[in-house]
Amino acid sequence: MSGLDLPEIVNASDVTDYTDTVDVLVIGAGIGGCCAAAEAASTGASVLVLERSAAAGATTCMAGGHFYLGGGTAVQQATGHDDNPEEMAKYLTAVSLDPEPEKIKAYCDDSVDHFNWLEALGFEFERSYYPEKAVIQPQTQGLMYTGNEKVWPFKDQAAPAPRGHKVPVPGDTGGAGMVIELLVKRLGELSVEIRYEVGARKLVVDETSGDVVGVYWKDGPKDGFIKAGSVVIAAGGYVMNPDMVAKYVPQLAEKPFTLGNTFDDGLGIRMGASVGAALKHMDQAFITAPVYPPSILLTGLAVNKEGKRFVAEDSYHSRTSGFVMDQTDRAAYLIVDEAHMQRPDFPLAPFIDGWETVEEMADGLGLDRQALKATLDRYNEYADKGEDPDFHKSAEFLAPQDTGPWAAFDMSLGKALYAGFTVGGMATSVDGQVLAEDGTPIVGLYAAGACAANLAQDGKGYASGTQLGEGSYFGRRAGLHAARSVKV
Ligand SMILES: Cc1cc2nc3c(=O)[nH]c(=O)nc-3n(C[C@H](O)[C@H](O)[C@H](O)COP(=O)(O)OP(=O)(O)OC[C@H]3O[C@@H](n4cnc5c(N)ncnc54)[C@H](O)[C@@H]3O)c2cc1C
Repeated sequence: MSGLDLPEIVNASDVTDYTDTVDVLVIGAGIGGCCAAAEAASTGASVLVLERSAAAGATTCMAGGHFYLGGGTAVQQATGHDDNPEEMAKYLTAVSLDPEPEKIKAYCDDSVDHFNWLEALGFEFERSYYPEKAVIQPQTQGLMYTGNEKVWPFKDQAAPAPRGHKVPVPGDTGGAGMVIELLVKRLGELSVEIRYEVGARKLVVDETSGDVVGVYWKDGPKDGFIKAGSVVIAAGGYVMNPDMVAKYVPQLAEKPFTLGNTFDDGLGIRMGASVGAALKHMDQAFITAPVYPPSILLTGLAVNKEGKRFVAEDSYHSRTSGFVMDQTDRAAYLIVDEAHMQRPDFPLAPFIDGWETVEEMADGLGLDRQALKATLDRYNEYADKGEDPDFHKSAEFLAPQDTGPWAAFDMSLGKALYAGFTVGGMATSVDGQVLAEDGTPIVGLYAAGACAANLAQDGKGYASGTQLGEGSYFGRRAGLHAARSVKV
């Protein structure tokens, strides 16, 4: 794997002593690893989890707690939202850069079961719906739209349904820690040891077959080897690895706020690559600086340095941000008139100024006067009729911006407070088997969570809840397959 700092591989024939022998070894106790460990242990397999930090669920515990679930969950039913696996699959297919049909079908067909499995850990998603356009429901409401389901072109490709299920914890961040606590409790009940402050560093490989048969671990000055029938890497993403970020997703290097924990250093991905794992979507990232709430701002226009619109402003925030990244100098401005101006409580895209005339605004933003005026005139003409022939914004967010003064917010990278994480990782089968470049599974090796490439493939198609959703679901599948593949 060119340019990646890969850990060495250990040849099994060089290992004389193992500290442990287990059926399934899981690297990392986040949402992916804990779910894998729980399902593996439920088959009766012996399971050990290595966790490099002193507590479980590093990045998962930061997450607000959206799980992207649908197909007719109890919350969808209780709040009167029709959904079925087919429409959910159509939506996920439409938003994916490179849809993997088998994974999407399994995820959607099993979504209600997976919802029930999560609740059986010991909590209930509130049977309530939050109707506002927001980044996350502020309290404990169980359901809201967290993607682009109602946004063109997707609204024409699949029947929209809200699928962002939030755990019953108020606030924007940290809610998913509750699920980690319950998973750790479940692992205790299944007699699975989580060995804290022990980091996996290298994979042990049978040099004849090429199969992965164990890991080399380190804990301060102590180190050793563990022999395993299957190894599940669930060690998170790479947003904290400056070299990998610079190589794959330089836009994340330019922005001020990385969403992740210290150990999102890509070591899991690099261990996989050291034995030939193919990597996917490494050049994509979730990067965002939401301009809403308040949603009234979405009645405005986002324009680039050429004074032109480039996105439906009612898109999910990371879709809009993804398009900002494609514009000249990664710069854009959100413009609203006086009637639609409201200051956000958390202005991630900072307010620039207000101007009495469009010409003054163009000068203030450094845009061509005629171009900006033409864009505004065209937008206003159609918005007045409830239409948007260029970007098909929903009528709900269409309103002429024709009454000065006008205000502008800065959506540009480097000015707005962008935050982000990586989405790329190891190519995997529907059962979490790590795949080589030729598409064949690397025997004995699995990946789950943020170090695996599954449904979350880029920021433009992302829906909040996809990563906890796929990390838990495909983590479970990886754990089951890993346990069942162990030769006794
Ligand atoms: C602020 C924030 C909010 C978010 N909100 C949401 C949301 O609401 N919904 C959603 O779907 N996604 C959300 N995400 C994304 C989501 O949280 C992550 O994608 C997901 O938690 C990753 O899970 P994981 O199991 O891969 O990683 P983690 O939870 O980080 O678990 C990996 C574990 O592996 C350990 N580890 C690392 N390297 C090693 C090693 N070599 N040996 C042993 N252990 C190791 C780490 O210490 C860590 O505990 C959010 C992210 C952030 C930062």
